[in-house]
Amino acid sequence: MDTRSPHAASPWPALGAGRRPSPITDTTHSSERFLSPKLLHHPHGITAVDTEYLYPGHAASHIIQDEGRAAFVDVGTNYSVPHLLAALEVLGIAREAVDYVFLTHVHLDHAGGAGLLMQELPNARAVLHPRGAAHVTEPEKLIAGSKAVYGEERFQKLYGELLPIPAARVQVTQDGERFRLGGRDLELIHTPGHALHHYAMVDAAHASIFSGDTFGISYRELDSRHGAFIIPTTSPSQFDPDQLISSIDRMAAYAPEAMYLMHFSRVTDVPRLAALLKAQVREIVRITQRHANAQDRYTAIRADMLDLWLGLAHEHEVPLSDARIAALLKSDLDLNTQGLVVWLDRLKRS
Ligand SMILES: [Zn+2]
Repeated sequence: MDTRSPHAASPWPALGAGRRPSPITDTTHSSERFLSPKLLHHPHGITAVDTEYLYPGHAASHIIQDEGRAAFVDVGTNYSVPHLLAALEVLGIAREAVDYVFLTHVHLDHAGGAGLLMQELPNARAVLHPRGAAHVTEPEKLIAGSKAVYGEERFQKLYGELLPIPAARVQVTQDGERFRLGGRDLELIHTPGHALHHYAMVDAAHASIFSGDTFGISYRELDSRHGAFIIPTTSPSQFDPDQLISSIDRMAAYAPEAMYLMHFSRVTDVPRLAALLKAQVREIVRITQRHANAQDRYTAIRADMLDLWLGLAHEHEVPLSDARIAALLKSDLDLNTQGLVVWLDRLKRS
């Protein structure tokens, strides 16, 4: 991953233009606040907070408000926590009013800050899949694994000191389990494919699903007159194409009006995006298998995936140069390729 911003300018000003219904909130008027969290106000009491991971417009935590109660869906890293707390303040939500921290999965860009955040939310329970729970109550293994990938210095820079969540404050869930937040019902559904322990959260009454990483990645800068552009994420180490396609179908079967992605927030036109995602998963699998025995699998897979994305972006009339699209998708290209190589090795062993 490259943490240097590939952006000539922040994506935020563009968000107020065109079909985006929710301009950013300018919170800079307050001299009390040290931070001005970047917020996107969506319908039905849903707010996206930029977690400031890697670069603006890359990753969003979501806050749901209902009848005076609130919940987070995914939280970002330790470095995101001040932005999340500032967002609560801007939204007028007391820290005591947060009932849940839903974690779709324990990848560090989603859950790395959960331990620190939970210390600030006295009444919240962290909710996640049983397979993810041990990683947040005893994060040592997760830390060791991530440091092996990133190295000590880079790990510190990206994630900092991971704090455990006391086991008593962690609630593991079954597929289909429902939670009450204020007046609304939220259902967690098991959606493997990106990660085996991945949950998505269905807010059926508001035709909304919080998809974590299972419904791919859709940066607002790649929007065109045709709407959102989307790519799947196959990052290490549990990518499974058949599971991923099933999970996309399972979510789409709810016929949601909107999906809320970690990368990056609200998309509509779900049937078109589901088809685009599934076609890409199949094509990326073909690319990966074609290069299974290549001398340098990583380079070959990466190059073909970039070609695939640039071709699709052209079809979609994404209004950016190829160089800029490639820069924007660089970290995803790297992570996806790593995940595909891990998947190939897993196939060979089985
Ligand atoms: Zn992930």
